[in-house]
Amino acid sequence: MTVLGDKLTSLLGRKTATALAGALDLHTVGDLLRHYPRRYAERGELTDIAGLEIGEHATVLARIEKATKRQMRNKPGWLLELVITDGQRRLQCAFFGKVHQHERQLRVGKTGLFAGKVTAFRNELQLANPEYQMFEDEQGASTMDEFLGALIPVYPAAAGMPSWSIARCVRQVLDTLEREEDPVPAALLARYGLVDLFDALHGIHRPQDWAALEAARERLKWDEALALQLIFAQRRHSAVSRPAPACPRKPGGLLESFDGRLPFTLTEGQREVGEHIAEDLSGVHPMNRLLQGEVGSGKTVVALRAMLQVVDAGRQAALLAPTEVLAAQHARSLREMLGELGRAGELGAAEQATGITLLTGSMTAKERKQALLDAASGAAGIVVGTHALIQDSVSFADLGFVVVDEQHRFGVEQRDALRSRGANETSPHVLVMTATPIPRTVAMTVYGDLETSSLREMPAGRSPISTTVVPVTEKPSWLNRVWQRVAEEVAKGHQAYVVCPRIGDEPPSNGNGGDKRPPLAVLDVAAELEAGPLAGLRLGILHGRLPADEKDEIMRAFAAGKLDVLLATTVIEVGVNVPNATAMVIMDADRFGVSQLHQLRGRVGRGSVPGLCLLVTEAFDGTSTRERLAAVESTTDGFELSRLDLELRREGDILGSAQSGKRSGLKLLSLLRDEELIAEARARAQEIVAGDPGLAGHAGLAGMVSAVIDDERAEYLDKS
Ligand code: ADP
Ligand code: MG
Repeated sequence: MTVLGDKLTSLLGRKTATALAGALDLHTVGDLLRHYPRRYAERGELTDIAGLEIGEHATVLARIEKATKRQMRNKPGWLLELVITDGQRRLQCAFFGKVHQHERQLRVGKTGLFAGKVTAFRNELQLANPEYQMFEDEQGASTMDEFLGALIPVYPAAAGMPSWSIARCVRQVLDTLEREEDPVPAALLARYGLVDLFDALHGIHRPQDWAALEAARERLKWDEALALQLIFAQRRHSAVSRPAPACPRKPGGLLESFDGRLPFTLTEGQREVGEHIAEDLSGVHPMNRLLQGEVGSGKTVVALRAMLQVVDAGRQAALLAPTEVLAAQHARSLREMLGELGRAGELGAAEQATGITLLTGSMTAKERKQALLDAASGAAGIVVGTHALIQDSVSFADLGFVVVDEQHRFGVEQRDALRSRGANETSPHVLVMTATPIPRTVAMTVYGDLETSSLREMPAGRSPISTTVVPVTEKPSWLNRVWQRVAEEVAKGHQAYVVCPRIGDEPPSNGNGGDKRPPLAVLDVAAELEAGPLAGLRLGILHGRLPADEKDEIMRAFAAGKLDVLLATTVIEVGVNVPNATAMVIMDADRFGVSQLHQLRGRVGRGSVPGLCLLVTEAFDGTSTRERLAAVESTTDGFELSRLDLELRREGDILGSAQSGKRSGLKLLSLLRDEELIAEARARAQEIVAGDPGLAGHAGLAGMVSAVIDDERAEYLDKS
């Protein structure tokens, strides 16, 4: 009998096992059985050829419409040309070599599976080096015993290992598979009406009907969700079991003074989230919380209030930003918001005032020494810096709280590095802020080790941003209009950003996407605008490779209105706040991701005047690229946009595309459609880990968890 851990070699023979390992990285019975069909062809239904993508390795179920044999032109031998069809569109295939053997099987009118790489030649789609499996042999007997019912599994395949060969291997393995004890507790299976693993593996590979397939998929999705959520539950458990510096609220402290001076009332969301955080900070175990909210939703105020509670408790807070520009800007705006409350040691400071210290890599030795001293002595209640602040051996007098701005550049490992930074072996409280709203399922899977809070409403008085796609391939004249609009904004006394995907000082690279032209560069576009459409305006250039003090100087000049137009890379993506900037032009907008575009445009419309965002692109109408831009154009609701993004990014369910659902990864689970399942799995995982943190009494589950972790580790090793 066969079990999941068995090597394929002993079952399928060395040749086949080697082929599976080489083509698809499948080594054990478990690997093969977790190599799920990509989709199922229904007997009698042909594959939609229009859905094929050029360059993919595809498997199509098609009918032979025409077969022509002829002598090859330049060399001796025969050529068999085939036209196969889905009833509407056609694909060309050509066979050389043992043509007579092929000819006997490939009869006009017959159907079968054809696999190969999709290419295009003179506007016609072709299958290169096709492999095939006809449904009937020359005598008309069925050749498809691998398939029980009407559903034919189509596997992610590779050249030399076509879908039907995989199906044959799977059948061989399933025929001898032993029914082992299910790794998932019976009570959980019963509660959710899930079939056991043995049935699920049969059901997904050789479904009797759609219902059996559905039951199998449901169960196997649970495996994926549960393993992941158990890992997160264990992480959360070990994180919160550590001691943390408790920072209870202090009546009459800095926070109360600050609240009394706030020029606005907090939104409902800010108050509510603030309450949760205040409570967490008072606790003796560390907070690990993600705060998500649109650009401008007022996260910084929430973070600052939390920092003040920590300072009131006699400890320090650190604010980490992804870049030096942002760190400097954060320090400035914190000082501004705090006013005399943030000027400890200076003349005219309030009595309870604290100090805010900026610490970056580009400071002079003297400044840096002073900043390090302030952090170590505790003179600085708030220390602002880049992420390097944590990796460096900066010492704090008593670090109680770390705020990390912008999650997507701050990984799990970096969060781990924070854990030991508190005084006396404590773990500081951590608040991660992201301006990229993420759907609940993504929060639960990608940031599953954090609790999440969201700010959904915007503070009153925000101006709307209108976004327009400028398709310069179809409407070349619109580009002039773009620069006119920028000039008009400047004439009205406003300012504008022009964003490009590339700096332009890199050495010329070869490769980089073949014949696709390189993305537009800040330096090139600046030169063109200066010489032409924006001649006479005060242009500034900002990008990541400028020295930090120069960056800072340019940002200051722009903020002070000494520049009309700032040409920049995505360094301005986050945090930059210049209310007088009303327009943004994004060149080659298609080279940016949806959430990045959304972030970028959040830089305008921050004052009392509506913002304008123009997305310039050469992408053609009807492409998925244009669809993404249209999504950005259609809504400024970041949560809605993150959903759309998720939808658009899902690979089409094209038959047999060569995406060999590698290693770990979520193969069946959809972050879009399986929200309920993921939430349930999270709740169950939480319960299980609360009662059995090490999963000592749940050997099956522990095995599932370590399989995922091993895969991740293997993937990591592959990469490095
Ligand atoms: P985020 O960090 O989420 O992008 P900020 O905290 O920087 O947002 O807030 C954006 C702007 O809105 C700031 O100028 C801030 O002072 C202001 N703001 C924050 N909260 C409120 C509020 N409740 N009412 C009015 N304005 C607010
Ligand atoms: Mg901010």
